[in-house]
Amino acid sequence: MKHFPIFMALEGRRVVLSGGGEAALAKLRLLLKTEARLTVFATAPAPEIEAWAEEGRLTLERRAMAPGDTTCAVLFYAADEDDAEDARTAAIARADGAIVNIVDNLEDSQFITPAIVDRDPVTVAIGTEGAAPVLARAIKADLEARLPATLGTLARIGKGFRKAVEVLPFGRRRRDFWSDYYFNAGPRAMDDGGEGAVKDTLQTLLTKHENADTPEGHVAFVGAGPGDPELLTLKARKALDTADVVIHDRLVTKDILELARREAVLIDAGKEGFGPSMSQEEISRLIVEHGLQGAQVVRLKGGDPTVFGRLDEEIDAVDAAGLTWHVVPGITAASASVAAIGQSLTKRERNSSVRYLTGHDMKGFADHDWKALARTGEVAAIYMGKKSARFIQGRLIMHGADRATPVTVVENASRPDQRVLSTTLERLPQDLTDAGLTGPALTFYGLAPRAAQAEISKFEQELA
Ligand code: SAH
Repeated sequence: MKHFPIFMALEGRRVVLSGGGEAALAKLRLLLKTEARLTVFATAPAPEIEAWAEEGRLTLERRAMAPGDTTCAVLFYAADEDDAEDARTAAIARADGAIVNIVDNLEDSQFITPAIVDRDPVTVAIGTEGAAPVLARAIKADLEARLPATLGTLARIGKGFRKAVEVLPFGRRRRDFWSDYYFNAGPRAMDDGGEGAVKDTLQTLLTKHENADTPEGHVAFVGAGPGDPELLTLKARKALDTADVVIHDRLVTKDILELARREAVLIDAGKEGFGPSMSQEEISRLIVEHGLQGAQVVRLKGGDPTVFGRLDEEIDAVDAAGLTWHVVPGITAASASVAAIGQSLTKRERNSSVRYLTGHDMKGFADHDWKALARTGEVAAIYMGKKSARFIQGRLIMHGADRATPVTVVENASRPDQRVLSTTLERLPQDLTDAGLTGPALTFYGLAPRAAQAEISKFEQELA
C-alpha cells in the first residue's frame, strides 16, 4: 500500500488550489463538500468559480500564485494543467509546508484524491494508486447503486442516538440493535414517514432490544471453499458477517478472512504438517468455550467441512456441550480442481462413480478397493496425496493398473497461483518431486486436463 487512506478534518483549515479550468473545477466540486477555507488562484477563472466566490464559498485571487500565498495551508492542489506552472506552484506550496497534489501527476504528488461515494456522514473512498482509474469508477458506480440514498440520513439520525443506546451492554446486544436499525426498522420508517418516523422508531426499537433475551451461543461449521473468495456461498458470507469468533484452519485464505466482521476475533487453528499446531481436542474445546460464552462461532474450514474435515469430532463436542449448530456446505477442492482442468468428475461411459481418497490415512483402503480402482476408466480425487504418491502408485500398479493412466495434480485450485501438473501413474512420484509443489494440491487419478485428453484420444484413434 503506497498510499494510506485517512479521513482528514478540514473544518476551518486552509486549502489552496491554483488553476481555473476543468481540472480545477473537478477538484473544487469535491472540496466544496468540506468545511475547509478555500482559496483559488486563477488568472482566467471559469464562471462557476466566479459564482462560488460571489456566494462566499471560496476566496478567489485573480492572479498567478506567488511565494507566501500558501502560508498555513494544509493541502495544495496544482491544477493549472500546465507542467511548468504546476511545478512552480507546487514548489511554493511545498516550501510553505502544505501537502501537495499535482493533478494528473501521480509521481510528484504527495497525496491523491480517491473516487468518493458520498452518503455524508458515510463516505466511501476508492483508490487504485493510479493503477486503474476505470476500475475505481466501476466500483464507485457499483456502490452508488447499492447504497440507498437515505443511508446518510439514517446515519446522521443514528449518530444523535448513540448515547441512548449505551443502556444496552457493549458488544453483541448493541450491534444487534444497530443492524436492526440500519437494515430493517430504519429504512422502513424512512419509507413510511421520513425523518420524523425514523426518530420515533429509534426509541421503540431500543425498548424492544432492552427487553430481548441475551443471545445464546451457536456454532456454524462453514465451508470456505478452495480459496477464491467468490467461491464462498452467500450463506458463508452471511455467517462471516455476523460472527463473533472465527476459528479457521490453515487452508482458509487471507482474502476470505478479510470478509469476517471487523470486530470478530480470528483464531488460527491451522494444523501445520510440522511445527506447532493445535490438537483436535484443543480445537473442539476452543469452539465449545466460545459457544458457551454466548458467541456466534464460525468454525471455518477449507473446502467443504464434510470432506476430510474432522467435522464429526467437533459436532460431537458441540452437542455434548448442549450448543446448537448447523453446517454450511462449501465447494470442495475436488470440484474446484476438476473445474480448473475442464473435466467432469463423472462422465457417461467413462466413470459412473468417483472416489474421494485421502493420502493421509490409507489404512482403511483394502486390497479389493485398490483392485477396483486399478480398473481402466476409474477416477479418484486424492486429497493430501503428495507425500503418499509413491505408495499409491505402487499399490495401483501392483493391482494391475496401467502405468500410462493419466494423473493430474492441481495445486492451489481457484487461487491466483494455481498450477496444473499433467502426468501419468508411471511418472507421478518423479514429476511431483521435480515440480516442488508447496501449496495444497489435489491429485486426480484417471483424469487428464481436457486439452491433454483431446491429444490422447487423437493418438489412440490414429493407432486404431
Ligand atoms: N475440506 C477440504 C479438504 C481438507 S483436506 C475440502 O473439502 O477441500 C486438505 C487437502 O485438501 C489438501 O491437502 C489438498 O489435497 C486439498 N485442497 C484443499 N484446498 C485445495 C486447493 N485450493 N487446491 C488443491 N487442493 C486443495
